[in-house]
Amino acid sequence: MLLPEHTLLKPVSLDQCLIMLRDLTAGGGERLEKAQLIAGGTDVIFNMRLKFFQPEHLVSVRRVPELQRIEELDDGGLRIGAACRLVDLADDPRIQSRFPAFKQALDAVASAQVRNMGTLGGNVCLETRCWFTNNSEEWRQGRQGCFKTDCEHCHVIPSSTHCHAINNADTPPALMALDAMLTVQSARGSREVPIAEFYRPDGMDHMDLQPDELLTHITVPATRDRNLFMKYTPRKGMDFSLGAIAVRCGGQGERAENIRIVLGSISSAPIVLVEPARVIEADGLGDASIEQAIEQMRDELGEVTNLYGRATYKKQIAKTLVRRALVKIRERV
Ligand SMILES: Cc1cc2nc3c(=O)[nH]c(=O)nc-3n(C[C@H](O)[C@H](O)[C@H](O)COP(=O)(O)OP(=O)(O)OC[C@H]3O[C@@H](n4cnc5c(N)ncnc54)[C@H](O)[C@@H]3O)c2cc1C
Repeated sequence: MLLPEHTLLKPVSLDQCLIMLRDLTAGGGERLEKAQLIAGGTDVIFNMRLKFFQPEHLVSVRRVPELQRIEELDDGGLRIGAACRLVDLADDPRIQSRFPAFKQALDAVASAQVRNMGTLGGNVCLETRCWFTNNSEEWRQGRQGCFKTDCEHCHVIPSSTHCHAINNADTPPALMALDAMLTVQSARGSREVPIAEFYRPDGMDHMDLQPDELLTHITVPATRDRNLFMKYTPRKGMDFSLGAIAVRCGGQGERAENIRIVLGSISSAPIVLVEPARVIEADGLGDASIEQAIEQMRDELGEVTNLYGRATYKKQIAKTLVRRALVKIRERV
């Protein structure tokens, strides 16, 4: 599968990168049409070979020094450049000791080879994926197109008016549980977005990011709360998650304060479970209230349909992940 023709631009400063994006995307158009950012390239190159998108220009962030640093904040939080590699972050002792959920999510991304190239920004901004469509062009030609390719149709929910491709990235649920903040910048200026507000439940328009904008930093605030991340996948180091969960919880033992439960790889955006968290805060982390919290998940999961397997199987994965994660967090001091 040959790469579509394109030019590769290599800015050496953030200003130069922002000006390139501004000039290349002037005149409007879709996010991926004219210029696309590339970091580690582990997903972009794959998708270009599959001919999902064929941007005229790739703008690499690998040589932008402002995006490669980790800054220590006064309160013990970290401000991480978007082009930091996953392998370097997973090896960072500050992340290991302060943010176990983040460390576990970093380790869960693909294989060592992918983590050597892949970056945090690329993971946070990963394109959505669909079990029906993420295949070669020849394979796709054997069936009707869809929102991801050339027509307004969804193979997952044929009556749907939008795309149901899944957000399969591992770090976003952990970063959401940890209340991370994203810095997004363009030549027009910079803005801060809580990661919890960054994603949208539409596979074709799943991020709050304009064509001329890039993610520059991910800020993870300090926390004393217990936190963890878990993922279910058939082959570790190879497959994307069939379901993932991140939990953060104050208090000790069964006492739960300020709990956040986030499911990943279930929908086009990570899902924050609101009612189950309320049940746990009110009744604690005993076995009975965990089961009650799981019962409360039903409505919040929405249409779990984009699958490897049946809807009931994926719902079962989600319930099992919630049960295991809550039991495990109860054991943490
Ligand atoms: C075999 C295989 C298995 C994989 N398994 C997993 C897995 O288990 N879990 C998982 O989470 N991922 C997985 N991935 C996907 C991918 O490798 C990782 O998500 C990786 O972190 C992507 O980072 P990257 O730097 O290579 O991104 P790239 O491929 O360079 O970019 C990915 C997307 O992010 C955008 N982007 C990159 N940087 C920025 C920025 N600073 N601002 C705005 N947009 C930006 C790009 O335009 C592109 O749309 C897998 C990939 C492969 C090939």
